[in-house]
Amino acid sequence: MNYIDLRSDTVTKPTPEMREAMAEAEVGDDVYMDDPTVNKLQEKAAIMLGKQDALFVPSGTMGNLLALLVHCQRGDEVIVGDQSHIYMNEAGGMSALGGVHPHPLANQRDGTLALDDIRASIQTEDVHHTITRLVCIENTQNVCGGIPLSAEYTTQVGRIAKENNLLFHIDGARIFNAAAALNVDVKELTAPADSVMFCLSKGLVSPVGSILVGTKKFINSARHLRKMLGGGMRQAGVLAAAGLISLEKMYTRLGQDHARAKKLFEGLKQVNGLVLDAAEGISTNMVYFNLTDEVKLSVDQIIDEMKKRGVLVDWAGPRRFRLVTHYWVDDAGVEKTLKAFEELLQSTAQKDHL
Ligand SMILES: *Cc1c(COP(=O)(O)O)cnc(C)c1O
Repeated sequence: MNYIDLRSDTVTKPTPEMREAMAEAEVGDDVYMDDPTVNKLQEKAAIMLGKQDALFVPSGTMGNLLALLVHCQRGDEVIVGDQSHIYMNEAGGMSALGGVHPHPLANQRDGTLALDDIRASIQTEDVHHTITRLVCIENTQNVCGGIPLSAEYTTQVGRIAKENNLLFHIDGARIFNAAAALNVDVKELTAPADSVMFCLSKGLVSPVGSILVGTKKFINSARHLRKMLGGGMRQAGVLAAAGLISLEKMYTRLGQDHARAKKLFEGLKQVNGLVLDAAEGISTNMVYFNLTDEVKLSVDQIIDEMKKRGVLVDWAGPRRFRLVTHYWVDDAGVEKTLKAFEELLQSTAQKDHL
């Protein structure tokens, strides 16, 4: 069956154009730094994000880990959101592999870390304390609803970092979604940061890979650590070829994904038994919602029933879902999803639909 797959934007398979470019890619040995396609991708990414240099890495998790390991020494402390991917979903890599100590702060409903919380969490010089080295934000903030953080907010975080001699990293897995939603050049969102990671393998549709950007010195250190972690890839140009298409063509179409997510949001709001997040609406490619108590089906049953109706969805909590739009979800896919949810839930929810 040809499923509508809304589990994540990581499920995006390469486009026919990407597959062609991958087949024809000029390649070399990237550990010797002589893969022309990887080099081209890295140069392009550095320019687009307004940084000196860039490094192609196998995953976003490795990109974030490299940033943490380069910026921090063992025992240093990192300010992170308690709802951030780095803190929740990277297997504790910073602690396990870097001896780096996280200082989690509550993500606000708008996805930000409160500026006063950041200021208050910076450790004073005292033998009892760790040394605060780095502050990390996530843009878009996934778990808070795929919320884009503004250039103004990012600038303020950058200012606090500078004033306190901290380094500043952005987990920008979906920073191109943020730029599209805010209608700004992505450089405005990256300028205040020392380093930024973004994923080619999500809304940008590439099959594999992420990019880490920063100064030349930072990227040289990151390249060394990437090799140490086993992330030195040889003829990686076959992957970078798809990445180049992501950076040439895919980021400009993210608005379509956002418009479809909005349609899903508006449609699901009308379905009995669902309570949508974000009364003010959603701005990127994610739609989160909860089941009301009237719904007798479990999330697992709903996942099964939706699958029978040709739609793949994934849970985000015991009574919670997240749907993500992307390149392979068209308007018909949105309609099909809404119909499937209506059909499934009208029999189980209280309110009459007619
Ligand atoms: C997906 C994601 C990552 C990690 O990327 P992988 O390529 O899956 O390792 C990091 N941060 C955020 C916010 C993400 O959504």
